[in-house]
Amino acid sequence: MHNSDFPTYRGHMEYVCLSCGQRYPADSLLYTCPQCGGVFLLENTDFAHLRTTDGPTWRKRFDSRAAARSTALRGIFRYYELMAPLMDEEDIVYLGEGITPIVEAAAPLRDQVGVPFAYKNDGQNPSASFKDRGMACAFSYLKWLCRRNDWEEVLTVCASTGDTSAAAALYASYVGAPLKSVVLLPHGKVTPQQLSQPLGSGATVLELPGVFDDCMKVVELLAENYRVALLNSKNSWRILGQESYAYEVAQWYNWDVDRLCLFVPVGNAGNITAIMSGFLKMYDLGIITTLPRIFGVQSSHADPVYRYYAAPEGERVWQPVDVRPSVAQAAMIGNPVSMPRVRRLAERFVEAGGERAFQVVQVTEQQIMDAMIEANRHGHIACTQGGECLAGLRNARRLGLVGDNEHAVLDATAHALKFAGFQEMYFTDAFPPAYEVQPDVRLANAPELLLPQEAREGRDVAEFARLGAEAVVKRLGLARR
Ligand SMILES: *Cc1c(COP(=O)(O)O)cnc(C)c1O
Ligand SMILES: [Zn+2]
Repeated sequence: MHNSDFPTYRGHMEYVCLSCGQRYPADSLLYTCPQCGGVFLLENTDFAHLRTTDGPTWRKRFDSRAAARSTALRGIFRYYELMAPLMDEEDIVYLGEGITPIVEAAAPLRDQVGVPFAYKNDGQNPSASFKDRGMACAFSYLKWLCRRNDWEEVLTVCASTGDTSAAAALYASYVGAPLKSVVLLPHGKVTPQQLSQPLGSGATVLELPGVFDDCMKVVELLAENYRVALLNSKNSWRILGQESYAYEVAQWYNWDVDRLCLFVPVGNAGNITAIMSGFLKMYDLGIITTLPRIFGVQSSHADPVYRYYAAPEGERVWQPVDVRPSVAQAAMIGNPVSMPRVRRLAERFVEAGGERAFQVVQVTEQQIMDAMIEANRHGHIACTQGGECLAGLRNARRLGLVGDNEHAVLDATAHALKFAGFQEMYFTDAFPPAYEVQPDVRLANAPELLLPQEAREGRDVAEFARLGAEAVVKRLGLARR
């Protein structure tokens, strides 16, 4: 549906290489810097123009868009001017991503943790993870680019075994021509569940021997030499779309983020980069007048970013780590591709918000699993990475980093269902030793078969119902009324 309210403002976007500083126009399909291989951030060089509108006017504009009946403005592009103000309304791809619910913690859970907090359920995105935010932006950009260049076909490629390929395949299958989606997977290294999303979306799923990193090298070679759009974490258009998370949090709390502490799981570190970038833009424009505090969370089995920031400033040395198996599998990365972005953004964040504005905390695998199970027993739908955030909040409390008068927002980055396998291992005490998780047996849960299979045979429904009811009454100790 077309809408006359669609923003008329258009910015001027450029890729900026974080290693050599080289700039490139946004209408070229670039993944990394052709000169040095560095990662990009996208910059609106016309951002100063946005400052001619004051903060309250921006707030009012975004608030009024919350009521707009326009498909293009219903999701992450409610904040169009702050993200990728290049596309026209017809380019915007909307599959119901963004504007995800912020659910306050159930009261007993809140009391247990000792500080009020909420989950932002990014598992309620269409492919059930926050990756849809970035894909909606990347695919809108690709549509815009194809239209400008009259391209008849562009292949979107990603090497991934999890949420990135699910999201990429979903958006590609919706957009259709001229886009075609290819997913490259390491043969035998993915579970049937991880395969089902791109297969169901009709993506071409190709497999190679080796591990994920081998596939990654192959797709990078393709991106350098052929016209393919690589949708892996280095893709800077995805970062822009993921900024929407920050805008939504600020808007939900009525643009007052003072005393908010956001907890974000860190894998390739694109998400935490995007969230910091989003808040800095709002701060720059006076949409918010303070910055919230951002806590990155990492498992001790994959914690290069934690280790880096644990050292005092001036003594920090970047050192990738060898990862060990982690239940926070989507964040199990030893050499995050967005580390240069984190450094750049964290520096600006601390400059504007003070030393306490950006921190990274570490959690154990045990703490992650216990927290996920606890959260979901209280009505939440946290994935293991969402459990990681709750574990991070608990540790931050223990370390005295979060005060009684603060309010935490935890990123449940995917839906619990995507990580049901870890719940199953917890309930059945089936973790391979390398995970180092001992289930709390009080939390184990299993179905109970009340009657043997033969009980159904040779009985009519009425008779079976009496028998079944009797078994339930006995099991639950029900009293007659
Ligand atoms: C990708 C992903 C992460 C990690 O995000 P990064 O941007 O790589 O740091 C965390 N949780 C889930 C569910 C993911 O899919
Ligand atoms: Zn460069």
